[in-house]
Amino acid sequence: MADSFDVIVIGAGPAGYPAAIRAAQNRLKVAIVDEWQNHDGSRAYGGTCLNAGCIPSKAMLESSELFHRAQSEFALHGIGVGEISLDLATMQKRRATVVKGMTNGVQLLLKSAGVTGLQGHGRLLPGKRVEFTAQDGTKKEFIGKHIVLASGSAPMELRTAPFDGRYIVDSWSAVEFEAVPRRLGVIGAGVIGLELGSVWRRLGSEVIVLEALENFLAMADAQLAREALRQFKKQGLDIRLGAKVGGASVANGAVTVKYGDKQGEQSIVVDKLVVAIGRRPYTQGLLGEGTGVELDERGFIKVDHECRTGVDGVWAVGDVVRGPMLAHKGKEEGVMVADLIAGHFSEVNYRVIPSVIYTAPEIAWVGQTEEQAKAAGRPYKMGVFPFTANGRARAMEAPVGFVKIVADSKTDEILGVHIIGAMAGELIAEAVLAMEYSASCEDLQRTIHAHPTLSEATHEAALLADKRSIDTINR
Ligand code: FAD
Ligand code: AMP
Repeated sequence: MADSFDVIVIGAGPAGYPAAIRAAQNRLKVAIVDEWQNHDGSRAYGGTCLNAGCIPSKAMLESSELFHRAQSEFALHGIGVGEISLDLATMQKRRATVVKGMTNGVQLLLKSAGVTGLQGHGRLLPGKRVEFTAQDGTKKEFIGKHIVLASGSAPMELRTAPFDGRYIVDSWSAVEFEAVPRRLGVIGAGVIGLELGSVWRRLGSEVIVLEALENFLAMADAQLAREALRQFKKQGLDIRLGAKVGGASVANGAVTVKYGDKQGEQSIVVDKLVVAIGRRPYTQGLLGEGTGVELDERGFIKVDHECRTGVDGVWAVGDVVRGPMLAHKGKEEGVMVADLIAGHFSEVNYRVIPSVIYTAPEIAWVGQTEEQAKAAGRPYKMGVFPFTANGRARAMEAPVGFVKIVADSKTDEILGVHIIGAMAGELIAEAVLAMEYSASCEDLQRTIHAHPTLSEATHEAALLADKRSIDTINR
């Protein structure tokens, strides 16, 4: 007879492993199956986020930003350090150590929660059975009262510029470059393209970002997107909008990229090309015949608002289901499902999911943009407080950007908060909490913010929405 569990999770990324841990906390017998394999052949838990995405990219963003600041800012503080040099091998070693620390941590957490870890491939079969194929090819069947599918996503490939792992690469390979490319092409000015473009620009590459849309950061508040484009251009990122890439070819150690824009057919030659045109849900080999689990037209597993597939006891969470492809969205879905399985109340508030772009300046937002509030016909008011008027930002030599609050002018409800500036990703947490508790603009106005902190800009933006700012002229 097949070994049985209360819950079997397939996929140990940021959606799957929290589901497994919470299910175990709920005193359920849990197994987690994961097939992640690193470029060096090693296995690790943590999925895309810890091994190839969020964590290694942030490690490289941090290192490259320090390098850039040492070059451009230290002298301003009166600090002389002689000639600044780059040792990319050490930088990459640190990145790998950070990743390893995190993935080992996930393994430890699963173990200490009593979750059975199974490293290999999982395939759902009818009757909530899971066929497990171990690394040596041996197969075993398990049966679960509940199955949680958390198989994540994979980078989209441009058919006319296929990945070759060396010259035309995905985001994972692009965080692991062993030399700084002299000329780097990036297709896609989305979150991943901008973060990776920033890393290599700071380390010395000439970076050209080709973006098919005319609108920069179309998903963000337009005022914020305009400011972001201005800042990135100042940093030397050559962002070409309305540039639709048709294809790329490799010859003599260089990549020729062909794209079309308003002027007609164009081409560039670069040493490496990163294709960052988005990610697709990953379900390869996941669903056996006759499971009844359905995919939508874009390949996402169909689920309801509680992440239930149409099959009783089979759930799906994270990048493989609808909604933003973000680690924290997947985590909350995983936790929700594990609590629902245990019979507890739980829900995910999809209206209040923060987005962050870890460039410099950072960009972060939650809720409605000004354009969305306008389109929804909401009467709205706004406060846009610049970091130039914030003491801490000036002391940090980071007087760039602003906090923008959009609130309903009748009910005073906060509809959205949009931040561009230092630590925006940290600052947005206050706005998320405020919106989660349905705070009004006045609630933020009456909350004491420590001085001098960047968070005072949020306080002042709330005051500014009612023309009551103390630290800037109310217009
Ligand atoms: P994944 O993390 O993709 O995990 C799925 C796991 O399931 C993998 O280990 C996979 O090998 C395994 N698996 C799949 N199928 C099977 C199977 N049949 N059997 C066994 N195992 C299987 N998000 C953020 O929120 N913040 C960021 O800063 C951020 N930065 C990013 C930077 C980059 C460069 C990239 C690529 C992504 C970034 N993301 C970021 C997105 C984030 O990585 C994803 O949203 C997140 O990893 C999704 O989690 P998941 O658990 O759904 O899937
Ligand atoms: P994201 O979906 O946020 O990861 O961003 C991916 C970006 O890539 C989007 O802004 C797309 O418009 C862009 N994109 C997709 N295909 C192409 C292409 N062929 N040429 C240029 N940009 C593209």
